[in-house]
Amino acid sequence: MARSTKKNMEKVRKGWDPSLWAGLKPFGIGEERPNNYAEILRAVWENKDEALYAWRILSRGVCDGCALGVAGLHDWTMDGVHLCNIRLRLLRLNTMPALDTRLLADLASLKQKKSAELKELGRLPYPMIRRRGERGFTRISWERALDEIAGRIRATSPRRTGYYMTSRGEPNENYYVAQKAVRAMGTNSIDNAARICHSPSTVSLKATIGAGATTCSYSDWIGTDLLVFIGSNPANNQPVTTKYMYYAKKAGTKIAVINSYREPGMERYWIPSNLESALFGTKISDRTFLVNVGGDVAFLNGTLKHMIENGWLDRGFIERHTAGFKQMRAALEEQSWEDLERLSGASREEMREFARMVGEASTAVFVWSMGITQHEFGEDNVRAIINLGLTKGFVGRDNCGLMPIRGHSGVQGGAEMGAYSTAFPGGLPVNPENARKLGELYGFEVPSEPGLTTPRMIDAAHDGELDVLVSLGGNFLEVLPDPDYVREALARVPLRVHVDIVLSNQMLIDPADTVILLPAATRYEIPGGVTQTSTERRIMYSPEIPGRRIGEARPEWEIFMELAKRVRPELADKLHFDGTQEIREEIARVVPMYDGIQHLRKSGDQVQYGGPHLCAGWKFDTPDGKAHFSAIALPETGIPEGMFVVTTRRGKQFNSMIHEEKDALTGAVREAVLMSEEDARGLGLANGERVVLRSEAGEFEGRVHIAPIKPRTLQVHWPEGNVLIDRRHRSAVADIPDYNALVRVERAGEREPAAV
Ligand code: SF4
Repeated sequence: MARSTKKNMEKVRKGWDPSLWAGLKPFGIGEERPNNYAEILRAVWENKDEALYAWRILSRGVCDGCALGVAGLHDWTMDGVHLCNIRLRLLRLNTMPALDTRLLADLASLKQKKSAELKELGRLPYPMIRRRGERGFTRISWERALDEIAGRIRATSPRRTGYYMTSRGEPNENYYVAQKAVRAMGTNSIDNAARICHSPSTVSLKATIGAGATTCSYSDWIGTDLLVFIGSNPANNQPVTTKYMYYAKKAGTKIAVINSYREPGMERYWIPSNLESALFGTKISDRTFLVNVGGDVAFLNGTLKHMIENGWLDRGFIERHTAGFKQMRAALEEQSWEDLERLSGASREEMREFARMVGEASTAVFVWSMGITQHEFGEDNVRAIINLGLTKGFVGRDNCGLMPIRGHSGVQGGAEMGAYSTAFPGGLPVNPENARKLGELYGFEVPSEPGLTTPRMIDAAHDGELDVLVSLGGNFLEVLPDPDYVREALARVPLRVHVDIVLSNQMLIDPADTVILLPAATRYEIPGGVTQTSTERRIMYSPEIPGRRIGEARPEWEIFMELAKRVRPELADKLHFDGTQEIREEIARVVPMYDGIQHLRKSGDQVQYGGPHLCAGWKFDTPDGKAHFSAIALPETGIPEGMFVVTTRRGKQFNSMIHEEKDALTGAVREAVLMSEEDARGLGLANGERVVLRSEAGEFEGRVHIAPIKPRTLQVHWPEGNVLIDRRHRSAVADIPDYNALVRVERAGEREPAAV
């Protein structure tokens, strides 16, 4: 085999290593695990009417699934094939035929269907309109649709309009033109799904180390001494990472996992495209620390306390390159081991064990995800990880880094392109100075007040303060807490516009006055090709792929451009783009860190902004040039007597699209309530027994699924569990909903809580 040219792959030991195997049973026969070969057959069957088109998408396109990033079937981290079942499941969205629009004439039967069934009806081919009192939608022309929307926007104040974009599949070009168009129409109220994913990561990283994105590359995982996953389950959400982890382990890396649930996929995995792993599986985690939901700050602070007490620090780095260490240490001294143990749910000895692992590592990468960010104190959770990363300068050098791993393909670029109510292109904060500078570049006045975040848009709609809501993809009904409240809010907006490729149930909510559906093109249908930015800041080019085209579907960038031109005809020449190449050229001028995007022309072309490492050479883009430790108070997350804390981010779904009734990694069905054996015994409940969870916001009925989870914590699937979430609980700075809730558990049919 030729020697790999991929960074750090030369560290991977050749030959098989039984010490890393999950077991001796070939192909993990009898184990709960995804059958990836069956997934391939399923994808072939599903896409048989457009097999060639499907193959072209897979072999040339940039994956529209998660934000790991791959062009065709190869990436920039490892040798061999990069393909997973998420991508295969999403493929049909790109190849399916149009739906029969006669189905939309009367919505009574469609309203009974689940979102997954609506999606399977096919692609939305034409603009459609439904007025109040009408039973369904009728077809209209693009001209009439855009004129009507523009007229309604002109007739109201920009403050009473809101624009939302999803994060799956959306390329940078769509985000960029949409935000420019919305700002030309007089508001910053454009937000995207990054708000409910990693907004706390962005603000905390920016404030402490001056970089708002991952500081390292995936190749840094391979051969680092220690790879740590906190509140993150990439085996489920970014499946190809398991292959990176396989190579990391073969290069001598130890993997630690901090989570409230011993995720089966992070314990062992059978990687189908690697013979050794496909046959015998791979042990992933070397050490898993179970902590309470919301116990991360306490666990990480306890770890820091041990590291300080034992001198497991790089004093030289701390003295020369950081600030705030003394204040952080003083705050830790005030925190008792009793509190740290109670709130983390871990013992002092476990924290010491993890501290020793970090202390003994010369290099380490810390990866985190929604288990960290989706809390009222999400920003502090991230700051606690950054503190740990600064103990030994685990940033800005090879095999080191702080990585908020992204879930959906557009989520990194969405905020960086400025499709964000609190940030302009380049992630610059919305303020008068930045508005003036952007206005000079654009040739029109840019509003200087932050716009409505996604949750606040829904609040405004509920309060009757929104006249126009344009929602591009996504499904508020399924991604935001408290679906009844969201439904009421949407039903009150006089004009709702849903731009999408398929139907969703939010489109079927009766109009307060008018609902318009606009058919969008997929990324593979866009002439001139598009780009997407991965978690590791790699801007990748995805070409237009020849194949089936759907009715009058149009690229979203074009829809926003045409709309803004109608609302502000005097700005038409300033808003016009001839195509995506022209958009990329403007992005390169307006967002200097994206320079290079304008030269991407063919599949495989890419540029990683900032290079392999941000903060390289320990140069921090903060006012004093230093990285900042944070003194973090312990969030009071104690669980009251007789209650449990439930978290709601379980798969097997992607975005709000449910892919499977049973999760092949955990064996849990959609209605499962993951519960520890200890709790089930204490409550007198058996595996499979029906239970009701009651929170202040609502109730959820499901079945007990006994799992290796921290006692007093429960997990349910998302979005089903959203009914339990109190929409008023949001993080302080980033406004991200807290997707966790305190609940009582009752046996179904009984009103009294099951005995604790
Ligand atoms: S891991 Fe993510 S980027 Fe890679 S193929 Fe799967 S969904 Fe696509």
